[in-house]
Parts: sequence; structure tokens; C-alpha cells
Amino acid sequence: MRIFNFRRSFFLLLFLAILPASASKVRWKVKEYRNNKYVPLSQVKDFYGLTSMTKSGSYIILRNSDVELKFRAGGQEVLMNNVKFIFSHAVVSLGTYHISIVDLKKVIDPVLRPFKIKEAKGFDTVIIDPGHGGQDAGAVNSLGTEAGYNLKVAKMLQENLKKRGFKVIMTRTDDVFLTLQERVKLANSYKNAIFISIHFNSAGSRGRSQARGIETFTLSPVGVAHYGRGLKDSDNIERMGNAQDSANIALATAVHWSSIQLLARAKLEVPDRGIRRARYSVLTGVKHPAILFEGGFMSHPKEKYLINNPTYQRTLAKSMCEAIVFYRKATMQKVGTAKR
Ligand SMILES: [Zn+2]
Repeated sequence: MRIFNFRRSFFLLLFLAILPASASKVRWKVKEYRNNKYVPLSQVKDFYGLTSMTKSGSYIILRNSDVELKFRAGGQEVLMNNVKFIFSHAVVSLGTYHISIVDLKKVIDPVLRPFKIKEAKGFDTVIIDPGHGGQDAGAVNSLGTEAGYNLKVAKMLQENLKKRGFKVIMTRTDDVFLTLQERVKLANSYKNAIFISIHFNSAGSRGRSQARGIETFTLSPVGVAHYGRGLKDSDNIERMGNAQDSANIALATAVHWSSIQLLARAKLEVPDRGIRRARYSVLTGVKHPAILFEGGFMSHPKEKYLINNPTYQRTLAKSMCEAIVFYRKATMQKVGTAKR
């Protein structure tokens, strides 16, 4: 049912003008826990004008007629209008349920109030980075190479974006090798741009062949690790890409949500692995809002056929293009002029 509500759901998430009655006067009840700062979910509810907070099993659900935020006690997976985000820190019970300030500032706020994102300036250029190439094929299976699939989808996206009037820069247009630094350097030589790195996944050689689905990465905020590994000292250093933290997550939301929805509509459904945090070089170094999109697992026995299917590739490209158009609208919208 939900797939038919694509536009409505999308608008609700990224176009909502949620204006807290007295945002500047809110005094968050901050609690320290294991070196991180947390705020109560009940305050999050009030701040965003949500009207109810209910508990269902291990889930805590905050909602009003337009927005639903679903948290799980002790978990990092959070659904915001059914878009899956992997929080930097788990929801904890400190008397009452709390979430980390990092997740409030770096996920919830830019998603619910994209028009507040200062660094999301107008852009007319989209830099598409097809991952790998040349001597670096990326993941390989019996049907093709990741470098090849990345380039195919990138070229389809390029065509779509040109039709919508964007200027498109490709980090590569052939099967050539580029270092990550070269990609970053090229991207940073442009202005007024966003950056999309396209990849396909592999579960590696450890026999985890059942891993599948789509995931979208944005740069970890300062103090947050690369997904799946522990915190390092270097994670506390602010990177170039951190200046765009809020824009990064808004762009990721648009692209991730759009791809999950359009694939489902095309009956090419893949599991939703969520929007995650990572410290990939292209994300740390690029000065534009940036994401790294993983369009499925080449190592999965069924998903590899989907990835090889031109309809699947075209649907990914189309969904990214639609998302970029939506993202531009959502972030350009001025406070007070928001429409649903
Ligand atoms: Zn890759």
C-alpha cells in the first residue's frame, strides 16, 4: 500500500515546515551518559510539535498527523516516515528514553527541517563518481564487474539529470583508474555542486553471501565511528565533509528513500539497509554535500541478477535523479513559504 503514496510520503518527510513555537527558547534537558550527551524523547516530541508518544513492545513511537518517528529501546535503527536511518548512538533509557544530541542535530533536525540547513546552497552541478575502474574492478561476480555497473548507472543518471537542466560532471566516463584523491580533487574544483558516488556491494569472501539490499552512506559526524568499527582518535577530527553534515543527511534521505520506493513500484524490491555513517575518503574530502550509494550486493545469488538487469539500473538512475530534484526543492524552500 505504502508504495502508492510515494509522493505524499516524500513530501511529508522532506517538505514539512515544522516550526517549533519557540525554538530559540527551548532549554534541552541534557544528560551525560558514557561520554555522550543525550536529550529526552519527550522533549524531542514537544520541540517538533508531535502530539503523541506511545510504546508498543520495544518501540517508542512519536507522531502527529504527518510525521512518525519510530525508535527502538536500545537500538540504533530508527524509522522516520518509514525511511530507515542507522543512528550514531543507541536509544537509551536514563529514567526515560533519551537520544544522543549528535543524532538529534545531525539526523532528525536536517531531515525534518531541511530548509534550516545553512550550508545547502543553490546548486546547478551534479558530480557523479562511478566507483573503481581500470585496474580496480571493485566487486566481481560471474555476470560483471562493479566498476562496469557503476559506470552504467552513472551514465544513465547523467542523461536523466541533463534532461532536468543540471550540469553534470563525471569523475570518469571510461574504464579507467582514478585514485580517491583524484576524484576528490576533481570534485573540489567545481562550485555550487553536490557529489554522488555510485557503488555496488559485496559481502566479501567470508561466506556471508546472504547479505543484500541497498544502503546509503554519509560522512560520520565528528566523534562518530565508521559504521561497524569502534571509535578511533582520528574520528574526533573535523573533516572537510563535516561542514556539510546536515546537507549530507538530507541528500542521503532523498536518494535513499526515492530508490527504495521506485524499486518497489517497479517490482524490483530489495531490502532497505538504511542510511549509515562512514569515513570513506570521498566523503571525508569533498567540499560539497556528498553521499556514497551502494545499489545492492553483487555477492548475493539473486541480487546479482537484479543488478545485471537494465531495468533495475535504469530505475536506480531515475530514482536518484528524482531525489536530486526533490532535494533541491526541499533545501531551497524558505521558512514560512513551505507548502505540502
Ligand atoms: Zn565499491
